[in-house]
Amino acid sequence: MNLYQIIYGRAKEIENDTVRILMDLVRTPSFSSKEKEGIQIVHREMEKTGFDEIRIDGLGSIIGRMGNGSKKIAFDGHVDTVYAGDLAQWNFDPFQPKIEDGKVWGRGTVDQKGGLAAMLSAARLIKELNLNNNLTIYFTGTVMEEDCDGLCWQYLIDKEKLRPDLVVITEPTNMHIYRGHRGRMEMRVEVKGRSCHSSSPERGDNAIYKISHIALEIEKLNERLRSDPVMGKGSITVTEAVSESPSICSVPDGASIRLDRRLTYGESKENALAELYDAVKRAGCDDAKVIVLTFEDVAYTGTAYPTEKYYPTWALDENSPFLQSAIEVYAGVFGKDPLVDFWTFSSNAVAIAGIHGIPCILFGPGNELYAHAPNEACQIEQLSGATAYYAAFVAKLNGKI
Ligand SMILES: [Zn+2]
Repeated sequence: MNLYQIIYGRAKEIENDTVRILMDLVRTPSFSSKEKEGIQIVHREMEKTGFDEIRIDGLGSIIGRMGNGSKKIAFDGHVDTVYAGDLAQWNFDPFQPKIEDGKVWGRGTVDQKGGLAAMLSAARLIKELNLNNNLTIYFTGTVMEEDCDGLCWQYLIDKEKLRPDLVVITEPTNMHIYRGHRGRMEMRVEVKGRSCHSSSPERGDNAIYKISHIALEIEKLNERLRSDPVMGKGSITVTEAVSESPSICSVPDGASIRLDRRLTYGESKENALAELYDAVKRAGCDDAKVIVLTFEDVAYTGTAYPTEKYYPTWALDENSPFLQSAIEVYAGVFGKDPLVDFWTFSSNAVAIAGIHGIPCILFGPGNELYAHAPNEACQIEQLSGATAYYAAFVAKLNGKI
């Protein structure tokens, strides 16, 4: 038996434990900014495995360390999940996990407590099979990802001075390898008008008309946005319109629209803002105010770490040696070539790779089609597959295979 087979065999042997960790995590709801109990489950499992160091940072993310080599890598899984949504659409209680049809069912099984469980089992394999002797490996269970992707890693990098050479993101990729995704921005455009009695509107300046002209220019701007041959087209759309007026019989004196901007490869905050100012100008509203919104929610620890809602696009170079290793390890573990592509969603990599330029790879169990959806379920076969993959990847970076 070669080492790949040994690792895969052992991942299968401890599959029941991986499933148990996942079910414990599902049974313990951990919505964004409310992850405390979920983090405690991760802490308990890390203690069982015997990490060299386990600590919790100011925002409440947990960091388990193994080894102390000069080369550093991290495996990241966010502990928070979205809410269950309309319970009538679930065939069972989303927080009472069950095993059926070879899958674990429940909120978060796909996004992304399955990846978290697989990563914790991989840590156990790395230790048991002695797969690491020259890396520092961090296993991070992070917070607030669903509400502000990357915030937890801005904190880890800026405040905790954690700066790995590579981060493997364990989000659900249906066992494909993804090397990038689009970025995004949230903005607001505000205009002022002048109120008067609405029985003689010509005396005032209607803010709704002004913001409407801008909205229609944004619709045209969306048509003009550039497309990347691989990542596709950037987009912009209005997601909310709000107005203010002294009464229902008054011409409104203020209005604003909220915008969701998706950024494709090669697009940045600067060019997105310049295009938006141009659209505002075309609408004849030079005095409109453009604002990039700020995320200000408080973590479960009570700490606030406000950040601009700009989540940059990122892509790992096709020729990155890390990517080449990731591809080789896939073939070694699964006996076939992986699909290497870009992801549809966003992840913590917007901060790690997008802001800080640290290479990231996405690989995890669970079909992302079931993320944030009712009757979420993750294939058990993928859980043990991902466990084996993460452990084998560490063996590869240690030159053992
Ligand atoms: Zn996720």
